[in-house]
Amino acid sequence: MITFADPVIRATMPLQMLLRSFFIATISSKKYLLIPSLNLLSFFAKPGRSYLFNVDRNPVLHGVLKKTFYNQFCAGESKQETKACCKSLTDLGFKGVILTYAKEMVFDHSTAKPSLHADEAAKSETSSARDSVIEEWRVGTLATVDMIDKGDILALKTTGGGPAVGEAFHRGELPPQQMMDALDEIATKCKQRGIQIIIDAESQYFQKGIARTSLELMRKFNREPKVVIYNTYQAYLKNQPKYLQHHLAEAEKDGFTLGLKLVRGAYMLSDDRSLIHDTKEQTDAAYNGIVEGALHQKLWDFGTSRPFPALNLFLASHNKESLITAQRLHAQREKDGLPTVPIGFAQLHGMSDEVGFSLLKERGADGKAPDVFKCSTWGSMGECVAYLLRRAVENRDAVLRTQDEFNALKKEVWRRMGFGRA
Ligand SMILES: Cc1cc2nc3c(=O)[nH]c(=O)nc-3n(C[C@H](O)[C@H](O)[C@H](O)COP(=O)(O)OP(=O)(O)OC[C@H]3O[C@@H](n4cnc5c(N)ncnc54)[C@H](O)[C@@H]3O)c2cc1C
Repeated sequence: MITFADPVIRATMPLQMLLRSFFIATISSKKYLLIPSLNLLSFFAKPGRSYLFNVDRNPVLHGVLKKTFYNQFCAGESKQETKACCKSLTDLGFKGVILTYAKEMVFDHSTAKPSLHADEAAKSETSSARDSVIEEWRVGTLATVDMIDKGDILALKTTGGGPAVGEAFHRGELPPQQMMDALDEIATKCKQRGIQIIIDAESQYFQKGIARTSLELMRKFNREPKVVIYNTYQAYLKNQPKYLQHHLAEAEKDGFTLGLKLVRGAYMLSDDRSLIHDTKEQTDAAYNGIVEGALHQKLWDFGTSRPFPALNLFLASHNKESLITAQRLHAQREKDGLPTVPIGFAQLHGMSDEVGFSLLKERGADGKAPDVFKCSTWGSMGECVAYLLRRAVENRDAVLRTQDEFNALKKEVWRRMGFGRA
């Protein structure tokens, strides 16, 4: 766990954690180290690697990745490791954790292939009555629910259900009934235990069906002011307003609460670039525009010429400016007695702790800190490697942030070696 901004907290980091964070920050802030590391991770992320390059089977490779990238960004490979990591995150003062089971499929636009393990494709094809990949995902996801507590959040990568699910998603259809039943079972269990669910947004290849499935789950489960299900909207997509307007209209028509989790989008490396805004500034404007509109209860014609539906907003981002601006606008509107919507925040485990801590210092109209969560992922090394690759790409893109982190950690390493002060 890294906390770069505050020298006091930084000084209390265990040595092993400090050295790991320093190692990752060194790689992330130096292009000549990061590019080969990205290429290596990208190589390991491809399924069907021989023993030597198989991250689950080669113990040396597994050990090196585990002590470095994995422990920085992921919670654990077992229930015990994961629970211990979740506790360490909440002990830092966050409202709770968001936990995901890593199993997913990523569609690579350049090769036009999903990252699908050969054995999983076979399992999915051979079983006519029951699809064993869906069953494995259901069991793994229910195990995830058992690792978290009331008030925590479960995040779902629904492509983890395997080829049959992915194919349906690509056609823009709901997944097979077995998967719908699994989702229903998971949502019912979470609702009973006071755990909210986030459906993650994934590769564009699958997104049409994922959004449709989320909509059906929101329609069924979000019948109270506080949502059970959030759907994820990717602001970097040129067509995102179309989806969001459709979902707002459905919420208004059917009287359910829309769970709007907003991200910028993480699949630039593998998705069709033409679907994504041309510049970062356009993505930022789209993101901040949706946030501002939701907090004013005015998005497109919703809130002006037609009613604004009930909505819970959840901002998943490391962009301090977007988040602090949103929190202050929300607090101000509450203080002024103006209409607004409930808001929550999250950052990823191993990234941007200073953003989370800055948010925790803010105060709402009730004098309380906002709800800030830490989001982590658990699963075997092989299941987590595509996720690790996306985090490494984000660190590459956040050049300024990683340079600041590197400088702060370097200072602390030098201080402990007796060469300077924090
Ligand atoms: C808790 C949490 C959950 C998440 N869940 C998901 C999820 O379900 N699905 C998902 O896709 N992502 C998810 N993400 C990742 C997210 O989409 C971003 O990739 C990541 O957070 C970096 O964006 P940022 O908002 O933190 O800010 P910044 O660092 O300010 O923005 C970086 C982002 O801007 C966009 N961008 C960068 N360069 C360009 C460019 N040239 N043109 C157009 N756009 C550009 C990209 O989206 C890039 O990731 C999640 C992030 C968090 C913190």
